[in-house]
Amino acid sequence: PDFEALNLDPRLCQALIKEKFTKPTLVQAKAIPLALEGKDILARAKTGSGKTAAYVLPILQSILQKKSADPSVKATTGLILVPTRELAEQVQKVVASYTSFCGKDVRSVNLTQKVSDAVQRSILADFPDVVVSTPSRVLSNVNNSALSLDKLSHLVIDEADLVLSYGYDDDINTLSKAIPRGVQTFLMSATLTSEVDTLKSLFCRNPVILKL
Ligand code: AMP
Repeated sequence: PDFEALNLDPRLCQALIKEKFTKPTLVQAKAIPLALEGKDILARAKTGSGKTAAYVLPILQSILQKKSADPSVKATTGLILVPTRELAEQVQKVVASYTSFCGKDVRSVNLTQKVSDAVQRSILADFPDVVVSTPSRVLSNVNNSALSLDKLSHLVIDEADLVLSYGYDDDINTLSKAIPRGVQTFLMSATLTSEVDTLKSLFCRNPVILKL
């Protein structure tokens, strides 16, 4: 299959062309159609497999669809949780590359960037569509009311096996209560450990399990 078969928004297709990506990788070919159907996904996928685009493209597709129905909607609908600042930066770059033809329709922010509280608060006050962060940075911004998760529709936990082993257990448990029911969830993990099982029962509804 090629990307055209996925019927993605033309602005996302333009970004794929610019990146010179013609064919989806295995995880993308499996996950993207299921994600576009609204399924929760638990994927065993390593770095280098193309796993980032496997969740970023469906999230952006959904945001663009919502905006074409009502351009005035402003809310953080996508939350991508990662275990480290380095990965947050990498994922944010991927999101930025796929939104390069979307103009101001899609905005994303990396909450782990070192900026002042006031700057971060003003960025969040503008309701970025996608937030990329470690669990603790999300939680502190939820706790001080800078960030609302009420309108969330998509949640990703990338490198899910590492998120709990890096000691984010308490943050994740608290966040699970702040995240609305029925959010579409993607768990991406290099290994399917008992930690990942814990996250699955906390966040997923009957996920499709892809062992790649
Ligand atoms: P990831 O596993 O998401 O970290 O991606 C690994 C690398 O694969 C990154 O450098 C991406 O730019 C690249 N990549 C992602 N999707 C594709 C694709 N469909 N075709 C070729 N390269 C890709």
